[in-house]
Amino acid sequence: MGVPRIDGGTLFIDGRWGEAAGGSTFESTNPATGERLGIVSDASRDDASAAVAAAAAAQAAWAQTTVYERSSILYQAHRLMTERAEELAQLMTAEQGKPLRAARNEVRYAGDFLIWFAEEAKRINGEVIPSANSGQRFLVLRQPVGVVAAITPWNYPISMITRKVAPALAAGCTVVLKPAEQTPLCAVAVFRILEEAGVPPGVINLVTTSAPAPVGAEFLESARVRKLSFTGSTEVGMQLAGGAASRMKRVSVELGGHAPFIVFDDADPVRAAKGAALVKFLNTGQACICPNRIFVQSSVMDRFRAELEHRVAALHAGNGMDPANAIGPLIDRASLEKMERHVGDAVARGARLAAGGARLTGGDLDAGFFFAPTILVDVTPEMIIYREETFGPVAPLIPFESEDEVIAMANDTTYGLASYVYTQDLGRAFRLMEALEFAVVGINDINPTSAAAPFGGMKASGLGREGGREGLSEYLETKLVGMVL
Ligand code: NAD
Repeated sequence: MGVPRIDGGTLFIDGRWGEAAGGSTFESTNPATGERLGIVSDASRDDASAAVAAAAAAQAAWAQTTVYERSSILYQAHRLMTERAEELAQLMTAEQGKPLRAARNEVRYAGDFLIWFAEEAKRINGEVIPSANSGQRFLVLRQPVGVVAAITPWNYPISMITRKVAPALAAGCTVVLKPAEQTPLCAVAVFRILEEAGVPPGVINLVTTSAPAPVGAEFLESARVRKLSFTGSTEVGMQLAGGAASRMKRVSVELGGHAPFIVFDDADPVRAAKGAALVKFLNTGQACICPNRIFVQSSVMDRFRAELEHRVAALHAGNGMDPANAIGPLIDRASLEKMERHVGDAVARGARLAAGGARLTGGDLDAGFFFAPTILVDVTPEMIIYREETFGPVAPLIPFESEDEVIAMANDTTYGLASYVYTQDLGRAFRLMEALEFAVVGINDINPTSAAAPFGGMKASGLGREGGREGLSEYLETKLVGMVL
């Protein structure tokens, strides 16, 4: 059977859908079944350059629209995304693999960014600052930074786009987006919505490509791009941030995490284990906020572990289209191999498997990249899994004795994105939220994220914040005007 070619091409440049100038294409495939979903255009650096030129040409007129016009377009986009939520969720499950219920949640979250920034757009306020000199006035203007180049990952293939594009549009910036090569169809679906919502030609541009590096080089080297916003791995993010720094471009990077999940003996270990199971296996462990080191105070370890094992035993793996399945496939073979490496190394160094530990095969599972939800006990600092982001369904349990000890262990990483603490002691909750070197802290809370709140990383987990008021500031320049009248 032939693979459907996406009609008219998947590059969206200057308000027109088209093929790559060289005619190249690549395929998007379903990670659960191996089915080929569609043929998309494969942009070269020249295509990226044309997209940047279109964004640059549209910038001045877009910056001059009123915040009310920009807000109204974002409201329209939100309405369309809500109307098409089911269609988008099914596409996401097919292309990225997460269970349909999780895909529906992500579409809602993606819509939240559209509506939040539709509202925030109206609050791009300036300031008047008193001067020490009579007759002098200071004005502070907030203006769009200019053309934004955005690069998004495959694990949240719709919400990571609106989290960047909505604030950029609200601020008055034009955008060129390069989505992940694993999920181009989700990006096309979002762009169709933005186009239909009335975003003018050139204001948003899409370059799907299987070769990210040349497109990334164009974003860095083109003087017309004023800001780079990236979500993805720490390795690539650091490389791009370095390139942006040497050209004095503004940059926001949301990178990897290595979240500690800390359970104290004053907390209910059953409730904590329920939370751990939900957030650890979210998106099959492929979220930057997934716990990667689960620290449990020794006196409650047995009860915590029993409940976690019970919950893990109930997690079915398989195609996310089937509501019985809570664990979808990993995105590709390399991810599967990484799980095998992390688990193999831990077991070789003395960890024990309390659940899972291997690739899942047999029947329909053979066609996808499925790995069993896994629990490792007696994990120690020499193991790779203690140091590196796993990005998969493996839960490493580490016992601890004291508060000071666990704070030191939790902070002993170059990463600083999400962290979780289960405690009923208010004083301890405050000590932990202040001591943890992580930019997001959940206290008895496994979902400390919202379009209304600033999200991002400290240390090697990133620079800048997305969502909240801060998410809009990332796309605004601050201009000082001194006036003597
Ligand atoms: P990745 O860095 O390989 O890819 C992310 C994006 O960067 C993709 O669009 C890819 O095509 C692009 N890219 C890769 N090499 C590039 C280059 N040389 N130039 C320009 N673009 C390039 O990451 P991944 O493995 O696909 O994504 C998973 C990572 O993303 C994890 O580490 C995860 O923690 C992180 N992540 C972070 C957040 C956050 O908000 N902090 C959210 C989601 C994912």
